[in-house]
Amino acid sequence: MKNIISPSYSRDPFFIYGTTETKIFESKCDKCGSKIELLIDEIIHDSYSWKQKYNDDEINQLKEYYNIGYIGKSHDGGSPAIIKYECRNCNSLYYLYFGVKEPANSVYVITLQAITLIE
Ligand SMILES: [Zn+2]
Repeated sequence: MKNIISPSYSRDPFFIYGTTETKIFESKCDKCGSKIELLIDEIIHDSYSWKQKYNDDEINQLKEYYNIGYIGKSHDGGSPAIIKYECRNCNSLYYLYFGVKEPANSVYVITLQAITLIE
């Protein structure tokens, strides 16, 4: 696995509920430059349920790889969301790791933590 973007304790959030118009996270495939797109709603949903998509070995591997601590917080202090993403153009596989904070009921602040190419 190779980090295109690595986790950070100080990166600014890219989405703050009520101040950010867009409802989509956008980046680019490192291999072919095609657009990577995720719905904000999907990231928020994943922060509640990311573990359901992986088996125990994968969860432990991901937590170790990203250094997600025992209490399971993301680097920004939120809930991690780790989404496996396949480029629609070149089929490169990525993990997209986000931190999702909910400072008030249904108010969300989302920080990109990592984009990792699965090799
Ligand atoms: Zn691609």
